[in-house]
Amino acid sequence: MSRTAAARLLLLVPTTTYRTEDFVDAARRLDVDLVVAAEKPNTMAAALPDHLLTLPFDDPAAAASLMREYARARPIDAVVPVDDATTVVGAAIGQALGLRANKPAAVSATRDKQSMREALARAGVRQPAFAVFSITDDPKVVAAGVSYPCVLKPLVLSASRGVIRADTAATFADAWQRIAAILAEADVQALGQGARKILVEDFVPGVEVALEGMLTDGRLTTLAIFDKPDPLDGPFFEETIYVTPSRLPQETQQAIADCAAQAAGALGLSDGPIHVELRINDAGPWLIELAARSIGGLCSRTLSFGTGMSLEEIILRHALGWPIASLEREHPAAGVMMIPIPRGGVLERVNGIESARAVPGIEEVTISMHLGQRIVPLPEGGAYLGFIFSRAATPAEAEISLRRAHAVLDFTIR
Ligand code: ADP
Repeated sequence: MSRTAAARLLLLVPTTTYRTEDFVDAARRLDVDLVVAAEKPNTMAAALPDHLLTLPFDDPAAAASLMREYARARPIDAVVPVDDATTVVGAAIGQALGLRANKPAAVSATRDKQSMREALARAGVRQPAFAVFSITDDPKVVAAGVSYPCVLKPLVLSASRGVIRADTAATFADAWQRIAAILAEADVQALGQGARKILVEDFVPGVEVALEGMLTDGRLTTLAIFDKPDPLDGPFFEETIYVTPSRLPQETQQAIADCAAQAAGALGLSDGPIHVELRINDAGPWLIELAARSIGGLCSRTLSFGTGMSLEEIILRHALGWPIASLEREHPAAGVMMIPIPRGGVLERVNGIESARAVPGIEEVTISMHLGQRIVPLPEGGAYLGFIFSRAATPAEAEISLRRAHAVLDFTIR
């Protein structure tokens, strides 16, 4: 196919994402004319003005109108938002250009935990009881009226940033002040009205899983269910190990998939990847959070489909309306550890990377923070120290490899 005849694909890449490399690699494997947009000008933009665009991601209507203009001379065949920060603008561009995409209102509801909870409540999806408060409310008064244990969280952040469990009125007031301080930060203030509220939910006891799925015309295909074998009981909720396939019974996995599908339907999502967090106890699965994007960080590297297709290639092919050979995950078990942050400070040295890589079953160890970088643990921080990847015959072995590799890593933090 000649270059001019190739399908043109627009990737929406926020500068803060971990997902750029994996999506760009996938796009390179396809015969597409790749256009990449970010919210800040790329240093190469002047040399490649048609291929490196700057778009106001925080103003979806303006971004959509710029892309309508662009597409007059250079038609766009697909738009793919690679991460949370671009799902809404992606939907707006998709709608403006008549592409395969979710409705903007459906995606907006996933970006605001209050809207999400309200939509799920209307549809009767099993989820924790919740209430929303203004940061100008008196935390002592609010604390007296909620039930314990509960979880406090901002409406508009992700990666567990600002998510805190409280078991008593005293710890509630502390958690509230901590979240109020996070919400006062300039980057959070820029997120608008949602940054002035705090969501309080009943704490749902149980084990936690993440479901990675793909919606096609409103129908959900489960791509993978990840168990999270480290207990997530708070007070902060740092993600560590994800292992797939899930070791939960088949009927539980089916109930998880049904709950995720019901939630996606309740939100009005129709197309593209979803990443869903659920907790499971005797009552069944509980919807904690649904995002209209694929798994975050570098975690998608655990997944491959059919005979080696990456998750990103599947997402791009879906957006282009191209055939996908198989949505079956390749069989061996796989795991990833988001390396826990031992404490805050400046990262000075990392020892043991080669020994960690040499642990049987380990595929890769990637440190994503650079030396000299300031590390901020949860609940204030939201970035990852790095990732360990494993592959094994069984989920239990994949998990053990991750723990062994982690044990030989040594971080010096000043
Ligand atoms: P974020 O979008 O910042 O990741 P979530 O709402 O997904 O925020 O919460 C992050 C994590 O906190 C969840 O994965 C879960 O472990 C824990 N969590 C959040 N809400 C609850 C809840 N109501 N009950 C129990 N755990 C919760």
